Amino acid sequence: MTPPRHRVLVVGGGNAGVSLAAKLLRGGCPDVGLVEPSPTHHYRPLLSYVAGGAATLDDLRRPQADVVPDGVHWHQDSVVAVDPDASVVHLAGGGELAYRDLVLCPGSRVDWDAVPGLRVACATPHASTSYLPEHAPQAWDMLSGLTSGRAVFVVSDRHVPCSPVGLKPLFLAADHWRSTGVLGDVTIDLVVEGSRLAGTARADQELRAAADDYGVRVRTGTVAERVDPAARTVHLRSADGTAAPDGTTLGYDALFVAPPHRAPGWVTTSGLAAEGTDGFVDVDPLTLQHRTHPRVWALGDVATVDTSPSGGALRKQVPVVAHNIPAHLVGAPLRHYDGYTVAPVTTSRHELLLAEHDREGHAEPTIPFPDLVRPRRSLYLFDRYVEPQVYWHRLLRGKVS
Ligand SMILES: Cc1cc2nc3c(=O)[nH]c(=O)nc-3n(C[C@H](O)[C@H](O)[C@H](O)COP(=O)(O)OP(=O)(O)OC[C@H]3O[C@@H](n4cnc5c(N)ncnc54)[C@H](O)[C@@H]3O)c2cc1C
Repeated sequence: MTPPRHRVLVVGGGNAGVSLAAKLLRGGCPDVGLVEPSPTHHYRPLLSYVAGGAATLDDLRRPQADVVPDGVHWHQDSVVAVDPDASVVHLAGGGELAYRDLVLCPGSRVDWDAVPGLRVACATPHASTSYLPEHAPQAWDMLSGLTSGRAVFVVSDRHVPCSPVGLKPLFLAADHWRSTGVLGDVTIDLVVEGSRLAGTARADQELRAAADDYGVRVRTGTVAERVDPAARTVHLRSADGTAAPDGTTLGYDALFVAPPHRAPGWVTTSGLAAEGTDGFVDVDPLTLQHRTHPRVWALGDVATVDTSPSGGALRKQVPVVAHNIPAHLVGAPLRHYDGYTVAPVTTSRHELLLAEHDREGHAEPTIPFPDLVRPRRSLYLFDRYVEPQVYWHRLLRGKVS
């Protein structure tokens, strides 16, 4: 039997998939299919606020049925394999779907195996993450319950979505500890895999100053190699593979992690992954078109775009893919994605800065004035309260250009 065929089939109904499906329909695409297994849609950026005690899961969840655009054919299923030569995807439920163009945006997932002991540690009350909805509320229980001892915050740079936002729970918690009078009794260690706390030198400087103000001990270029949940220790090494220079083991009373991520395994088994990338889709970072299968496209956290993945990056990627699919069909020139990305990082429970930059790490501010790299109350209010409304009412409806 011939499988049902879509003009464009989108895999993954998260930030990228829903925004793109809506944008394609607005552009006149006659037939868009969407494969998404989850009945619930999450606005992920608020997870950092959940872990920092400034939001609840109810603030960030909506039924998926409410966000799938009218006119899009939603298949509530999971893709388990792609046959790019036959232009067919295989579904977990046993079905198949055919396509003219395929867009992959199933996101990335926590790579528990990258840090032995981490999964077991996160099942105890002493370790948690904001990167999974089922863990984020417990992160705040753990951080707010700490009144003395050592809190260790670990931020990986291995494909972590919008990795600098892993610092939000640290600054929200440190401000809480200060206001409850226990900051002096809590030792705070920050372990960051990259050389900076955010993508630009200016933002790095601001964040280091804020960390210094709370007495945080910052180690950059340092990796959490493994965790011993029974002993409550985290073992460190330097990112270049040698032992960490100043003591390789830290004990913890609370361990917060922004853990390494990897792509879904079926990307690799379908022959669509770039070599040496933990299975991320091998697209041209400029056009977002697959390098060897020109009817396959990818964007969002699963794509190799040579820049830090973020929801803000999708504001630029979605219009590029929505333009390039029909342009490729008629042989018109393709548009380019410049690598823009952004990380909004709180420095307290009232202020936030924006680190916006391009693929080369050059600052790329949305507006030239005022200076958005300086922590501001207005930016905090925008990120916590206005941006979610922009997400639900504009981005998911394809109103990005
Ligand atoms: C804790 C946290 C905080 C963040 N904070 C910010 C922030 O402040 N600012 C910012 O710009 N960005 C932030 N981000 C990053 C941003 O949320 C992501 O970059 C964005 O969600 C990526 O969108 P995506 O569609 O690629 O992936 P996702 O949003 O992860 O969506 C992927 C979708 O694919 C579905 N899927 C998975 N596998 C399959 C399959 N096999 N078949 C079909 N569907 C599948 C999933 O169910 C999911 O719905 C944050 C992310 C996290 C986790």
